Amino acid sequence: MHDEFRFLIDCGEGTQRQILQSGLGFKRMNRILITHGHLDHILGLAGLLSTFMRWETIDELEIYAGHWALERIHDLLFGVVLRGVKPPMEIHLLEIRPGLFFEGPDFDLSAIPVYHRGPDCFGYLFEEKARRPFLAEQAEALGIPPGPWRRDLVNGLSVELPDGRRITPYQVLGEEKKGTRLVHIGDVGRTEDLVEACQGADTLVIEATYLEAEAEMARDFAHITARQAAELAIRAGVNHLILTHISRRYREHQVLDEAQAIFPNTWVARDFDVFQVRRGENVKLESRA
Ligand SMILES: [Zn+2]
Ligand SMILES: [Zn+2]
Repeated sequence: MHDEFRFLIDCGEGTQRQILQSGLGFKRMNRILITHGHLDHILGLAGLLSTFMRWETIDELEIYAGHWALERIHDLLFGVVLRGVKPPMEIHLLEIRPGLFFEGPDFDLSAIPVYHRGPDCFGYLFEEKARRPFLAEQAEALGIPPGPWRRDLVNGLSVELPDGRRITPYQVLGEEKKGTRLVHIGDVGRTEDLVEACQGADTLVIEATYLEAEAEMARDFAHITARQAAELAIRAGVNHLILTHISRRYREHQVLDEAQAIFPNTWVARDFDVFQVRRGENVKLESRA
């Protein structure tokens, strides 16, 4: 979620039930990012759509995914759920390729190609645009009156004050500050090619399906271990690591122990967890069921 923008990343079975239970609601939940086409990441779209069919809460639904996943999603939604019935809202299936594919007013969203079973698997990078903070004291000292002049300066425009003086933005804007970077990687079988994309992220969300004791199985199924996730976090210099997609055979503390031995700033995400990610600050676990 980013201001007025909400993104749902992947939609496993039971997602709509969990959203209902969480109290998050479906309002503006009109953009869904799919990492890949495996059923445990898309089946929930069927339930979500049938919920939308009963309560028309949104006008448009945008589903972003790679080519192969989109074909499967198309079959699921139009072949199984709708079967010729007109959808309650416009459904846009949008094929993504590596790189920037969505620009918000103050953030960019890019797709990162990842290796997993099957073609067209992606991770997602949310990146707040860099900005220069407005220095209120500086503006005060220069005697810039409140109003449109300040607004224009904030937007990088030079202004002429009522008294005829010309002020340029660099006189009242501080040094450029990089925006928050959040990387979300779904299922993935190797991490070497992700170091660059994850570089300096404030938070990396990534799968850790296995423990190192079953590294061979992880390799066979193109997943990674908690240790591999932690090593990626170190190499890419990220600040925080949130692990997901944990095999039910493990206990949370086993996964945490393995990862934290290498990278202490690690969480294992639970259903209903709410984390807040801000540049230069510790990740905040805002609520946990
Ligand atoms: Zn998968
Ligand atoms: Zn999966």
